[in-house]
Amino acid sequence: MEGKNNIRELRATIPANVKLIAVSKTQPPERVLEVYRFGQRCFGENKVQELVPKYQALPKDIEWHMIGHLQTNKVKYIAPFVSLIHSVDSLKLLQEINKQAQRYGRVIPVLLQIHIASEETKFGLSQTEVEEILKNPVIDNLNHVKISGLMGMATLTDDAAKIREEFKGLRLLSEKLKRFTVPGRIEMHELSMGMSHDYVIAIEEGSTMVRIGSAIFGERKP
Ligand SMILES: *Cc1c(COP(=O)(O)O)cnc(C)c1O
Repeated sequence: MEGKNNIRELRATIPANVKLIAVSKTQPPERVLEVYRFGQRCFGENKVQELVPKYQALPKDIEWHMIGHLQTNKVKYIAPFVSLIHSVDSLKLLQEINKQAQRYGRVIPVLLQIHIASEETKFGLSQTEVEEILKNPVIDNLNHVKISGLMGMATLTDDAAKIREEFKGLRLLSEKLKRFTVPGRIEMHELSMGMSHDYVIAIEEGSTMVRIGSAIFGERKP
């Protein structure tokens, strides 16, 4: 598949109110630039060691999203420039992002990653754990992070009904968590859900951001 043709066709299938994040992990900067030239400005990476060199090499009007598991000791490398961290799965990580954001005089928007798949290997918080974080008085002092919503990954399956149930569950959870809203600090506006094989279902179930890699860049080599 050719990235340059795919991005246009793909964008035509995504409503204007849903943000397209082009997942450029494993792609060299030249391939990212090809897609950039077709107007795409928002890219997602899942590893700090890939994200930082691409940020350095590529145009500065790119919005970089961190979508993969993030270790606390690596937050400092992306804190100066990252636009949104989708994968916050602990209070400790949230505190570290706050600390590093403060160093750079920034407020970093984040999403809380929720475990919605039936696979055990995927990262993310349970419903109980996310409520515990939102209830914790410690977060009242985290003025350098803004919690903007939730992220989730559905089970890798061909069973569309199962995928739909999981995405629906994430949307219902975000409705439920709206009672924790603190304007400008904790909001449940964003739902990052949907990848190449399931983004159509995710959009039908209320996704506001889709993270799409292989449908733009072609299959990744293992
Ligand atoms: C790789 C990845 C994607 C994109 O997957 P595709 O199937 O290539 O669209 C989306 N989200 C996360 C967290 C990823 O790691």
